[in-house]
Amino acid sequence: MSARQRIDLHTHSDRSDGTDSPAELVRRAQRLGVDVLGLTDHDTTEGWQEAADVAERTGVRLVRGIEVSCVFHGYGVHLLAFLPDPAYPPLVEELGRVLAGRSSRLPATLERLRSLGIDIDVHDVHQVAGKSAAMGRPHVADALIELGVVRDRNEAFERFLGPQGPAYVHRYAADLEAMIGIIAASGGVTVIAHPWASRHDHTALDEDGLARLHEAGLAGVEVDHEDHPPQVRARLRDLARGLDLVVTGSSDYHGVGKIDHELACNTTAPEELDRLLDLAAAAARAAGRDVPLVVPAR
Ligand code: AMP
Ligand code: ZN
Ligand code: FE
Ligand code: FE
Repeated sequence: MSARQRIDLHTHSDRSDGTDSPAELVRRAQRLGVDVLGLTDHDTTEGWQEAADVAERTGVRLVRGIEVSCVFHGYGVHLLAFLPDPAYPPLVEELGRVLAGRSSRLPATLERLRSLGIDIDVHDVHQVAGKSAAMGRPHVADALIELGVVRDRNEAFERFLGPQGPAYVHRYAADLEAMIGIIAASGGVTVIAHPWASRHDHTALDEDGLARLHEAGLAGVEVDHEDHPPQVRARLRDLARGLDLVVTGSSDYHGVGKIDHELACNTTAPEELDRLLDLAAAAARAAGRDVPLVVPAR
């Protein structure tokens, strides 16, 4: 029996809100028999180089990605961008805006917590955030754990940081359709992350919405994700097939930062990865780029 490739395209390192360094993440992938690993930190490419160095030594194939914070019809949507040119000026500019929004939200969040009698300093959050280049609520959650206010990140989101929570503060996100266009123009491909996860309002991401995004250049949708129950996956898979969108599956691994999201708990079929890489190659050619798409090269 030929071994089928294990492909996990959506994971986070400590350069955003995961807890493994990029090097640890790649080594873990190797230990667990993951052949192809996507590193998709929120809004940053900071972990790419370290992950690529270890990938080349271990033979794990690395797909460099970003999970970009976007907005569509007023709703937050996470967009997986694979193999974009990280130096493409419109992308650099827009990620800069998103990261600035993350930084300015932090003091506002801490102000809310202070009004609830919880005193956390910005420096405390930076301390627990370590090497993260994308400050977020998970780091505030970690500071709350450190202070003994909550037991885990989940409790922090439920009691304080979630959209209905008393310490929730809005932040800037990129326009979804514009970002799909920017990634395509930079020579990359896009996949909507967990479009129908229960904590997201997916009314805008219905059949019409996804069809429109496909026309705007969207390559695929993440169907197999822990936040999608079985019936949701079945419906979304049918819809994706009908629209000829690539279907992916992934763990959204965050180290110990997110329970029930172990590496490769969901995977992508090799045929679907091939389609994605073909589309990326076509986009790269159209953008006049000549870069190794996946390291190490096949
Ligand atoms: P932010 O990037 O600051 O908007 O925070 C959102 C991130 O927090 C998401 O991308 C998730 O990775 C993480 N997150 C959201 N809800 C939870 C939860 N209940 N437990 C742990 N992590 C969460
Ligand atoms: Zn995250
Ligand atoms: Fe996400
Ligand atoms: Fe994610």
